[in-house]
Amino acid sequence: MSIEVALARLNEAQQQAVTTAAKQTLVLAGAGSGKTRVLVHRIAWCLSEGLASPTGVLGVTFTNKAAAEMRGRIEVLLGRPLGGMWVGTFHGIAHRLLRTHWREAHLPEQFQIMDAEDQQKVLKRVIRGLNLDNEQWPAKEAQWFINARKDEGQRPDQVDDGADPAIRTMIDIYRAYEEACARAGLVDFGELLLRGYELWRDNDDLLRRYRERFFHVLVDEFQDTNALQYKWLKLLVADQANFFVVGDDDQSIYSWRGAQVENMQRFRRDYPQHELIKLEQNYRSTATILDAANALIANNTGRLGKKLWTDGERGEAIRLYTAYNDVEEARYCVDRIRRFHAEGDRYADSAVLYRTSAQSRVMEDALRQADVPYRVHGGFKFYERAEIKDALAYLRLAMFRDADPAFERVINLPVRGIGNRTVDEIRLVARREKISLWAAAYRLIEHHELAARAANMVLAFLHLIDTLAARIAGLALDGVLETVIETSDLVAHYRKEKGDRGLDRIDNLNELVAAARDFEPDENETELPLVAAFLSHAALEAGEGQAGEFEDCVPLMTLHAAKGLEFTNVFMVGLEEGLFPHQRSSTDPGQLEEERRLCYVGLTRARRRLTLSHAESRRLHGADFYPQASRFLREVPRQLLEEVRVGGAALSGGARLIEETSGSGLFLGQRVMHRTFGEGIVLHLEGRGAHTRVQVNFEGGVKWLVVAYAGLAAL
Ligand code: ATP
Ligand code: MG
Repeated sequence: MSIEVALARLNEAQQQAVTTAAKQTLVLAGAGSGKTRVLVHRIAWCLSEGLASPTGVLGVTFTNKAAAEMRGRIEVLLGRPLGGMWVGTFHGIAHRLLRTHWREAHLPEQFQIMDAEDQQKVLKRVIRGLNLDNEQWPAKEAQWFINARKDEGQRPDQVDDGADPAIRTMIDIYRAYEEACARAGLVDFGELLLRGYELWRDNDDLLRRYRERFFHVLVDEFQDTNALQYKWLKLLVADQANFFVVGDDDQSIYSWRGAQVENMQRFRRDYPQHELIKLEQNYRSTATILDAANALIANNTGRLGKKLWTDGERGEAIRLYTAYNDVEEARYCVDRIRRFHAEGDRYADSAVLYRTSAQSRVMEDALRQADVPYRVHGGFKFYERAEIKDALAYLRLAMFRDADPAFERVINLPVRGIGNRTVDEIRLVARREKISLWAAAYRLIEHHELAARAANMVLAFLHLIDTLAARIAGLALDGVLETVIETSDLVAHYRKEKGDRGLDRIDNLNELVAAARDFEPDENETELPLVAAFLSHAALEAGEGQAGEFEDCVPLMTLHAAKGLEFTNVFMVGLEEGLFPHQRSSTDPGQLEEERRLCYVGLTRARRRLTLSHAESRRLHGADFYPQASRFLREVPRQLLEEVRVGGAALSGGARLIEETSGSGLFLGQRVMHRTFGEGIVLHLEGRGAHTRVQVNFEGGVKWLVVAYAGLAAL
């Protein structure tokens, strides 16, 4: 398609945004109004008009997936492949910079990226090393503290302790943690950004080079940038580059990770000459869905204010399903997904969105039982699975002996008789001598400071890693992974695990070999040994190389992960007080508004059909809850909803409940009325005849009643 044809397919405001001559532009617009589309067209237009070359464009998006899609869409618009264009996430771009300029960034050439779990482990060690009590100073809190400081761009010396001894201690931990990371060549996610920022700030020549290079800087989902990211952008853009940002304040959902929606106002102040463009027409959703979203978000205060309209059809009513528990809720969704599939939709057209990743399991079970293929995005990510991390830890250690988290992870896995005491001794020496665990282990052996048996075991482990390193030298990447899995004996280890779990894990290990076979490094990583590039990829892109990527399957994801995406059919499950809005937000109006924005994001993912559901009882983290329906459901105008209940006529056979055989005439999920407790729903039935007991969830709480005396009336 030529760019002229593509432009003609945009509305006027969109065309204006794409072709604007303004140096700085803010496109402020609601969901589904074409912000991402405009951004893509803008890049294509600048290239085709000769205003930019591919290497002069820096595009920042929210996920790697979005980046790949963006590049693909531009290539379609221009009809040619694009080399050299930088499109990626903030983290991905920072990583690329640090790989190229590791010297100027004061990093070892082969620095390793640490994920959150590794970070916690390092912190635990650091806290112990400072002789602080791990209970009083939990690694998790320190992690939170450090990440937040890094998001604000602060090093330990720049943090104000406010004369508070607790904060002073946190700063000490931060400092010691930095030293530990530097020793081991480790970089956490926040560090990528902070170091990327400092790299430019402190190297004038380098900054000048990049300023000259990136003449066009474009940012999608601008409302979710944090303080440091904005500073980084400003540093790069100065007043030379074209700065084009698009965002929606109503979709700011990452404040808990430091995102600052104020960056939109900041942009307006910092660049007073900017052009502000509003897009008001929504092209994604039916009028019904849009009305629901608009009504919901109207409950928030302090919005920048936008109107959204569509000239599309009204569409179907929004389904509101009340399930009697989470399992049945999942079954209902799966049932509908299958129906849509039978009617011609792909599985990939129906997405299930939930508030917390723990909710995916029940849904996964239901899908598996129904033989419907699915894929979990985010949450249980492939590269976050224990067995994958185990195998990669072996590889990491074989490549970089000083990778302490990897060392700790596998020194006694599979179990080889190296006890905690021995590991503690190794840690102690490492800390005292400021050396890696690997070096400490050697030193202990050389100085005969370990008991003979322990020394033998540790030496055998060190040899195993050396052997592994020798074996993988010169192999192709998939061969490397195969050898790692063989040499580490992990398969035998997992085979001992009971049930399907162990087999699953072995499948995953095989999948890792397949992932290695398909792996292609990013352009900037071609200099790096392939194995090192693969390890970075695994750490950075956790999950995005998951199995079955091209298979038609139902996407499952958290609402946070659904940002920017769209689906024909959307199922939002678990709309219950305490879950969504999340418990955490109950005392903080600001957080409640963020939950509402998250709900707005969810509703506006749907193109044609939207199903909202909640359950009257739910098992979460091993305990039963009897939640009230979410307030967000009440904020959607009634006339847009079609309510469906368990046992209701609209149900298909798949979701119909089993009639109880107690002879009481009651069944699970039935609505009943009690003269004192009011309306409730049957959760359990026990016993027969005169002894039948029933458990009912009333508004005031859950009660056990004897059917013969309770005087329950079925509704
Ligand atoms: P979000 O806020 O959710 O990220 P967005 O503003 O980025 O949404 P897009 O994803 O760019 O919106 O567009 C939403 C949908 O509307 C897409 O399917 C897009 O192709 C379509 N669309 C946008 N503009 C037009 C247009 N002028 N004509 C037809 N379809 C359009
Ligand atoms: Mg978008």
